[in-house]
This record gives sequence, structure tokens and C-alpha cells, in this order.
Amino acid sequence: MACQATRFAPGLGRFCSRPSIGRNGADRLLLRPFDPWKSPLCTCPPKLSLNPYTGCFHGCLYCYASSYVPRFFDCRPKAHLLERLGREVRRLSEDHLVALSLSSDPYPPLEARLCLTRGCLGLLADADLRIQVVTKSDLVRRDIDILRGARSSVSLTVTTLKEDLARRLEPGAPGPSRRIEAIEALSDGGIPVIARIDPIIPGINGDEIEDLVEAVARAGASHIVSSTYKARGDNFLRISSAFPSVMGALSPLFIERVGGSRYLPEKMRHAILGRVASACRSRGITFSACREGVHSTVACDGSHLISERAPHG
Ligand code: SF4
Repeated sequence: MACQATRFAPGLGRFCSRPSIGRNGADRLLLRPFDPWKSPLCTCPPKLSLNPYTGCFHGCLYCYASSYVPRFFDCRPKAHLLERLGREVRRLSEDHLVALSLSSDPYPPLEARLCLTRGCLGLLADADLRIQVVTKSDLVRRDIDILRGARSSVSLTVTTLKEDLARRLEPGAPGPSRRIEAIEALSDGGIPVIARIDPIIPGINGDEIEDLVEAVARAGASHIVSSTYKARGDNFLRISSAFPSVMGALSPLFIERVGGSRYLPEKMRHAILGRVASACRSRGITFSACREGVHSTVACDGSHLISERAPHG
């Protein structure tokens, strides 16, 4: 669907020109240092987080962000987004890394019409900032023209290759085949692609690890980030309701507490992640883990790929 564009600001029009709408929260900074609940296991490089939308449409059962954003699954655009972002990026240097999005998805279905994420990408690219897109949607393919001319990477999350399981786990998100096709299209467009196999939940998608690595590597992903599922109050209730027998068996294992989350035992987590690492080695691609206390020789979020790449003109 075409963007609903009208002229917004000089230089932005070639990407998208529709100003954001609404009023709530318009006085708050959009770009904020990423700090996932001050997790002692987060090893992300310093970066700024940008969420064009508040809340998320995808409705993932395991979502962590839903525990701290009110009305989380009621996805709505940020007020006056592009005007505010335009002001904020003027204060940044080219060293800054901006990730969108880490507490929502930058490509909910609304984005096909509103083009707010596209507008943000245009502003960030014009400022020559480093851009890290994290999404579950193949709508990101629409913005390949901006991303290939910027210092950017895209992380596509693929948790299962089974369409029916994906519909249960991530009911609002595009299915796995569309995400794999997006990896191919981005990779063919010269954009570094990271696949997030994240989270792995034993008994639900734990048996797909090797197949997932094979599929995303074949599609063109050059790095994989993975993690095991961490239980938080609300996500545990959602998954338990959808998969009662699996979660009933796992429930007594969530003993270790890190921040506001409960982790599976370290030995079990490291065995799971060891399988991902081994499959990545076999495919000749790099691996890192997210908030697991597992050391990696590259950036844990795959952002090393941005610096290593010269943008296409
Ligand atoms: S896409 Fe991400 S932010 Fe959106 S519901 Fe799923 S896990 Fe949460």
C-alpha cells in the first residue's frame, strides 16, 4: 500500500513526508539509551532506542515488553514523531547507533499506511547515523532503498519454521516463510542481516534449532543472535494458557532470578545455546547470545556488521 504522504520537511520528502499524529507523550524524548531493566547480563554496546509506535500489534505470547508498557497490544503511533525526531537527531554525532525497535516492532500493519518508520529511517540516514532495525515483519523490504544507502543492519526474528506454531506464538506477525523471504531480499540488497532465533522455549521450538539455523543461513543471514525464554509474570500466563502441558513441565525449572525475569537453569540454557553455536559454526556464520552470560567474540546484537559495511550509494 502506498504511503499517505504530504510534504513534511526538506530532505525527508524523498522517503516519506507524513507528519505523525496525536498528542500524548509529545514532550518526552524519543531517543533514549537502551537499558533493558538494568539487566546485569546485557552486554549490548551503547545505543539509543527508538520506538515509532507505542505497544505492538504482533501479540507474541513470550513478549517481555508487555510487562511494562500499559495497553501494550493496542499499537498506536507516537505523537508528532517525525517533527520530534528531526529535532533530536540534530543533537547527535555520527558515532551514535540507533536501534528500532527494542520495545515494539517498527513494522506493525499500520506502518504500511502511515510510513512513520520509513520517515524515521529517512531522518536517521540523512544524519548518517548507524541504524539497527529489529523486526518480525517482511514490510521492512519496502525500505530497502533507504537501508542500502545507510549504515544499517536488519535483524529478523524467526522462532519457528512451522506456520501453524508461529500463528499460535506470534499471532499478529507475518509467518516464517515471509520472514525468510525478507532475509533473502535484504541480503540480496546488500544489507547485513542478523537472524534472531529468540527465544528458544524447550518443548515448543527447541527441536527446530538446527533447521532454523540452516534456513536463515541459506537465506543470507550472516550472524545469529539467540536466547532462551525468560519467564515474566504476564508472558508466563499467556504461554501457559496456550501450551499448558509444556509450561506445566517447565515451570519448576524457572528458579534463577535475574532482574524481573526467571531463567531456566544455566546448564540447560548453555546446552541449548551450544546447539545454536555449533550449528552456526557448521554454516560458517557468527553467533552470539542475548542476556545469557555467554561470551561472544563479536557484538552480542550483531551491530559489528554495520561498521564493517560501506553503504551503497
Ligand atoms: S514483536 Fe517484539 S515487541 Fe512485538 S509483541 Fe512480539 S516480542 Fe513483543
